[in-house]
Amino acid sequence: MSGFFSERYRDLRPYVPGEQPLDRSYIKLNTNESPFPPSPLAQMMARREAGDLQLYSDPDCRALCAVAAEKLGCGKDGIIFTNGSDEILFFAFAAFCGPDRPAVFPDITYGFYPVFAQLSRVPYRTVPLNGDLSVPVDSLCGCGGTVFLANPNAPTGIALPLRDVERIVASNPGTVVVVDEAYVDFGAESAAGLIERYPNLLVTQTFSKSRSLAGGRLGFGLACPELIADLQAVRFSMNPYNVNRMTMAAGIGALCDEAYFRECTEKIVAVRRSSAERLRALGFELTDSSANFLFVRHPSVGGEELCLRLREAGILVRHFDVPRIKDWNRITVGSGEQMDALIAALEVILS
Ligand code: PMP
Repeated sequence: MSGFFSERYRDLRPYVPGEQPLDRSYIKLNTNESPFPPSPLAQMMARREAGDLQLYSDPDCRALCAVAAEKLGCGKDGIIFTNGSDEILFFAFAAFCGPDRPAVFPDITYGFYPVFAQLSRVPYRTVPLNGDLSVPVDSLCGCGGTVFLANPNAPTGIALPLRDVERIVASNPGTVVVVDEAYVDFGAESAAGLIERYPNLLVTQTFSKSRSLAGGRLGFGLACPELIADLQAVRFSMNPYNVNRMTMAAGIGALCDEAYFRECTEKIVAVRRSSAERLRALGFELTDSSANFLFVRHPSVGGEELCLRLREAGILVRHFDVPRIKDWNRITVGSGEQMDALIAALEVILS
């Protein structure tokens, strides 16, 4: 740290992303990327847009908003696009939390939440997950803070049913409830349909997982026009060109190619199901994941050791050095071939 670094950020503990190594080629099951390339239409539209990169992107994302309104069934003023959904989550911390409205989220959830709280200098409080790693719904009801709820949760993959999400939203009328649906397309129920009834509900989603655009960085939020206007105020105060031209074009292509979206998500769900069975047969314990990853532990190998042994075998998975989940690993659901390689490596490690 230099002597110039602001006093404000002396205690900042930045988020640590999953590694993207360049030393050799790995089977990457550590960052919940899609094993499939972006839709051919998305690729073609992004390529075509490259010829106009001398021009700024449309700060109002009008073409993308129009397609999204049609495909996702929202109003044009009920949606905001951001540079990945990480960005809208940060905007939400900035816009909707403060000394009188602390952020509240489970102790085990997406690791960016406490970082965003620190960066935007708002207080936060965590509520412990239940013993079975499910979200303690009652603790989030009427909790007096701005709730950040990943549904499905990360890294457990466990989804709350919509009635529980609604209970949390309805019981916190004085604060915003942010439902982070990064993984919703792999089998959970979206809260987007509740927006008309709840002016305090913000739903965030991403093109990174189910639409194979992690490298394009495209996320969005759905809410009533008033909440969207607040988020737009933060966005226009920071970076009005946060969605670049190629990503906007790719996003339109991805939204229009619904058949490809369905095909990819269905394949992931099928591979998740078969991989879970194979892992159980090897003695693993798994949470009930509705996401594009599995959360697993084995009675005879520690979490960190398993992660390291898989790395030696050329397979990356994600281990979190966090007390309650240190025996666990999060494994992205890859292609059938990638999961075959994973199972083969695990058989060797466990033998
Ligand atoms: N929310 C959760 C729960 C996540 O796991 C991730 C992915 N790291 C994100 C949001 C953000 O993803 P992105 O910025 O790629 O949209």
